[in-house]
Amino acid sequence: MRNRLCKIVATIGPASASPSMLRLIHNAGVDIFRLNMSHGEHDKLTAVFNAIREIERDTGTPLAIFADLQGPKIRTGVFPGGSITLRYGAEYMLVHAKESNDENVIAIPHSELLDVLEPGDILKLDDGKLQVTVTERNAKHIIAKADTPGELKNRKGINVPGRRLPISALTEKDRADLQFALDLGVDYIALSFVQQPHDVREARELINGRAGIISKIEKPSAVEQIDEIIDLSDAVMVARGDLGVECAAEDVPILQRKIIRGCRSAGKPVIVATHMLESMVESIAPTRAEASDVSNAVYQGADAVMLSAETAVGRHPPSAVAIMDRIIAATERDEGSEGFKDVAREDEIYTTADAITLSARRIAEVLDCRFAVAYTKTGSTAKRLSRDRPHCPVIAATPEARVARELALYWGVNPVVTEDISHFHEMIEKADALAKASGGADGDRIITIAGYPFGRRGKTNTLKISRIGSME
Ligand code: PGA
Ligand code: MN
Repeated sequence: MRNRLCKIVATIGPASASPSMLRLIHNAGVDIFRLNMSHGEHDKLTAVFNAIREIERDTGTPLAIFADLQGPKIRTGVFPGGSITLRYGAEYMLVHAKESNDENVIAIPHSELLDVLEPGDILKLDDGKLQVTVTERNAKHIIAKADTPGELKNRKGINVPGRRLPISALTEKDRADLQFALDLGVDYIALSFVQQPHDVREARELINGRAGIISKIEKPSAVEQIDEIIDLSDAVMVARGDLGVECAAEDVPILQRKIIRGCRSAGKPVIVATHMLESMVESIAPTRAEASDVSNAVYQGADAVMLSAETAVGRHPPSAVAIMDRIIAATERDEGSEGFKDVAREDEIYTTADAITLSARRIAEVLDCRFAVAYTKTGSTAKRLSRDRPHCPVIAATPEARVARELALYWGVNPVVTEDISHFHEMIEKADALAKASGGADGDRIITIAGYPFGRRGKTNTLKISRIGSME
């Protein structure tokens, strides 16, 4: 069991795809694995998926895996020789093509983008490292002037800040990748470049309950409708990489807080992603600013923080995870961090389950409990508890492997797959055993929550306070 409550997501890539490296980074602290569908062939991803499930079997720790769909990411085509050099102030022709044979032509294989471009539009290239501005559009061609000099390589991302493109959130490639990922059995699907609530609804129809949905917030248009998107999603990612290209850099920290707050009050898990320990792609230690960034996400109440290039292509994947683990744990030990976790619940308490979980949070604090053990069939009791940010870790006991894996993403929740209980004394005995297996000792106070009669769904109505090793 981890000695922290905020979770760690790692992106898998060439630097971490081998079974031995997957095991190392899991040992160092990874709770959730991200398979990036933008790269990686299906057979390689299958091998990674199977290796993660093997680690899960060996360690008995349920692990969440999510497939991150590429989404309608617009990219440049292919250049003669692999790249062209943009010269400051020089003009380039934008054409609808997969490749170009001319170093003054930028091929763009997406007519949807070319259709909407107007003079004055700014195209950010390669994650904003380069920029061109459209100067002219006529029946035959589009001309853009380079605002920055530099090398523009094949298949680099193009963002047009502020433009909503008439593109579905799911491309043909995404649909094929989605089918593949669902057949594989991933726990969540991440949707890139969500532009509007409809995009999430469309995906949910296709996914049809076979996986949860993580909406990646990386477009200003998604931010404008954030509350509705949060409501429609199972989880949300603050995708700062593209968000920072689509918006001004100074907007990103403010949007991060806003999105986290929205998710906290809606009770949906939120992942803060991208560039968290970026310098560790090369370096063995993070910058002080990076350590602060991870810590701040924890203070703000994120359920999980994510590593991207650090684990996918970096030189030190296990060290990056280990350092992230330490930063989280240190921040959570700070007494001052408690206040940041409280977010007023905007809704009233309607259900018995709401009243029980909220009371459990208070009891855990007053009695300084070691664990809250929740018996949960659908996961909803554990999710509610996590939302209330109790002062002790939650052990979620469920008979469903799927539910356990889904819960791996939730703040403070340690899922365990175990058979249903059938008697009251079994409820307490098992809670004791689970707490001990997680590091609890005789005499430690625990709270146990369940639904009685046992084994039914969604009937949380029972709360027992006891000490490990005693029924009292
Ligand atoms: P990506 O998403 O790594 O798939 O681009 C995250 C982000 O944009 O921050
Ligand atoms: Mn992105």
